[in-house]
Amino acid sequence: MTVGVVYSPVFLEHDTGEHPESPLRLEAVVQKLQETGLWDNLVHVAPPPASVDDLLRVHTGRHVDYIRCLSEVGGGRVDAETIVSSRSYDVALFAAGGVKRGLEAVVNGDLVSAFALVRPPGHHATRDGAMGFCLFNNIAVAAAYALDTLKIGRVLILDFDVHHGNGTQDIFAREPRVSYISVHQSPLYPGSGAIHERGAGNIFNIPLPPFSGDDEYARVYDEIVVPVASRLKPEIILVSAGFDGHWRESLASMSLTIKGYADIMRRINALAKASCGGRIVIALEGGYDLAALSGGIRAVFDVLLGNADAPDPLGPSRENDNAPDIDPLLMRLKESFDLT
Ligand SMILES: [Zn+2]
Repeated sequence: MTVGVVYSPVFLEHDTGEHPESPLRLEAVVQKLQETGLWDNLVHVAPPPASVDDLLRVHTGRHVDYIRCLSEVGGGRVDAETIVSSRSYDVALFAAGGVKRGLEAVVNGDLVSAFALVRPPGHHATRDGAMGFCLFNNIAVAAAYALDTLKIGRVLILDFDVHHGNGTQDIFAREPRVSYISVHQSPLYPGSGAIHERGAGNIFNIPLPPFSGDDEYARVYDEIVVPVASRLKPEIILVSAGFDGHWRESLASMSLTIKGYADIMRRINALAKASCGGRIVIALEGGYDLAALSGGIRAVFDVLLGNADAPDPLGPSRENDNAPDIDPLLMRLKESFDLT
């Protein structure tokens, strides 16, 4: 099982000040992987910077220039929560390049799977704009490279960040070679991700009510995500991985546990083995509670490496008795996605 990790300390140089999306996130993740010994069982891949041409496959020149200029003048705010520092443009190139490099290594057979531990995150970045802590859409840069240069014909992007990846949807809504399946909390930022947003028939949004937890996610994967994904026959699976659906997360209100993240990842791994030789490339998106983030990422690596589940150090929430009834939602999704 050749599992890669894409990481560089350069990702700590995107300086957001007092902010949930801070360098402390990756420091906590690396520390957790080192202290559990997983770090030494992974193939380490150094991220190269993406080129401007890589970015221009999915972004407008105006957007790329804007982020570059903002960095050059010392930084500033793109919106209330999205910050650019003097190093952010360069670091964002490494983040996009890191996911692209992970994908390249998986496609050429050096790795079976790769997890790019990058920041800034990417899935809210649209073709023409930064938002929601995201500057460039890292996973979209990799997907577009797969289509254009590696001649992959069908890419599937699964997104389990608790927020809808509006940017990824925006970029690929008219690109039928890329399918996008997102499971996210609704209502929640950024407000998009309704079931009826179908793009060219390649967008599959699964908006879950607040307080959905391990059981609801397991049902959604078994009854909707896996059947839809299998039908799409992807040649590679890219994953936008956010760990902000955990019950400890303050920016959302779901009830997932670390064990729940392992369950999700096991389903994705089985799906990849059945459909595309196990080829998975994961890009880190959100997750702001440091214990939930680092524990969730550890669980993902355990699944990829075929290790037995480690105990969940955080356990379930003590207030998890308000799980929603998702039967009506599942019925609506099956009708919308022709699964009946
Ligand atoms: Zn998120």
